[in-house]
Amino acid sequence: MTVELIKHSASDADVLFAARVSTAGEESRAELERDPQRSAGLINYLLRDRHGSPFEHTSMTFLVSAPLFVFREFQRHRIGWSYNEESGRYRELQPVFYLPAADRRLVQRGRPGHYEFTAGTEAQHRLVDATLRRSCTDAHAAYRSLLEAGVAREVARAVLPTALYSSMYATCNARSLMHFLSLRTQDERAAVPSFPQREIEMVAEAMEAQWAALMPLTHAAFNAHGRTAP
Ligand SMILES: Cc1cc2nc3c(=O)[nH]c(=O)nc-3n(C[C@H](O)[C@H](O)[C@H](O)COP(=O)(O)OP(=O)(O)OC[C@H]3O[C@@H](n4cnc5c(N)ncnc54)[C@H](O)[C@@H]3O)c2cc1C
Repeated sequence: MTVELIKHSASDADVLFAARVSTAGEESRAELERDPQRSAGLINYLLRDRHGSPFEHTSMTFLVSAPLFVFREFQRHRIGWSYNEESGRYRELQPVFYLPAADRRLVQRGRPGHYEFTAGTEAQHRLVDATLRRSCTDAHAAYRSLLEAGVAREVARAVLPTALYSSMYATCNARSLMHFLSLRTQDERAAVPSFPQREIEMVAEAMEAQWAALMPLTHAAFNAHGRTAP
């Protein structure tokens, strides 16, 4: 899975100038040039007291490549997100499929909403790998045979599994990203723990690392205040 920050307009200063309009009016524009480190306290206060709207004056566009089952979960995040995804109607889908890595925990225990995952045996890993390879190869062969018989791409794609990779642009702001991270990462600093599927968590972790480099003060305040979106 890959996550690439394609373009952005997102900095701690973008939050500060938006927040200061309430007390400084037009003079708040000066915040854009001021060293944001001097205003770390204001960002902390906004996070702590859940004044969320200043964080919306930012924009980040990511190019995400991940399996369809990750996209199904991802695109449930509706607010403050825009998506454009490659089409299975307008282009032939390429045979790129997800296979869990050797360190993917395979065994699920516990109750729904609070599962614990433990390592699989070597035999289970071999079984998963061989079964997925065979199933994906067979599915792609079926897809190709339908296309060769003249069947439309939009119909033929029905035989492909959710392990198939897709790609999309996903644009968000810092507030909507924080909400996404609060639900799609597991972190001991979280005030409200979440239990996301590991694969979407891997995407979320890659997004978080790139966002943290753009907005270090906001990221630190997010962690300090329980990783909850304001
Ligand atoms: C661990 C985990 C397990 C999950 N399991 C399932 C599952 O089994 N089945 C399933 O269907 N989904 C499941 N989901 C998806 C989940 O229900 C949400 O759809 C998803 O996390 C997006 O969250 P959201 O609605 O808060 O985000 P967004 O859609 O981005 O919304 C952000 C916020 O806006 C507000 N909002 C948005 N829409 C409305 C609305 N219509 N009315 C009122 N307020 C609104 C809410 O405050 C919401 O938190 C799971 C999610 C997680 C993290």
